[in-house]
Amino acid sequence: MILPIVAYGDPVLRKKCTEIDAEYPDLKELISNMWETMYNAAGVGLAAPQIGKPIRMFLVDTTPFAEDEDLSEAERAQLKDFKRVFINAQMEEETGKKWAFNEGCLSIPDIREDVSRQDTITLRYLDEDFKPHTQTFDGLLARVIQHEYDHIEGVLFTDKLSSLKRRLLKGKLANISKGKIEVDYKMKFPALKRVR
Ligand SMILES: [Zn+2]
Repeated sequence: MILPIVAYGDPVLRKKCTEIDAEYPDLKELISNMWETMYNAAGVGLAAPQIGKPIRMFLVDTTPFAEDEDLSEAERAQLKDFKRVFINAQMEEETGKKWAFNEGCLSIPDIREDVSRQDTITLRYLDEDFKPHTQTFDGLLARVIQHEYDHIEGVLFTDKLSSLKRRLLKGKLANISKGKIEVDYKMKFPALKRVR
């Protein structure tokens, strides 16, 4: 089932999300609905707060990036078929030099901006079978995970822009909250209190 994606301005996107256990109600169904919702919106990642649930869970599938001819062969191989559910993730370490990448977000349609982040991360998380992992990621894969991880901490990529950039985007962001935007997937707008 495709779920409406919560738009910028909804307080759920600002929550520091809470951990879950394997008893979380209808978890398998929720994960399957989140995949469907993400693919329908052509996203490479989706975090639970974006569908209105303030829990520490997000999904990543970087397969579409494997087609990107600007990337090295090694990077494309790493991104191909990387599909994973991250539960109760905790950032252990962020290292390496900062680099800029043009990010977008399904909750903030039509805005893309360069965001600077460190290039290597070590993350502790549970997979969908609640098996623990501690893993290091780098490059674009780390980037997608950092963006989704921010969501479960209540942080959006627009928070990382300069104050000047944020000021310039203010009107556009207000319009997104009001649903004054053309978008080809189902969204829930905080200022409308209804789904469109
Ligand atoms: Zn996002």
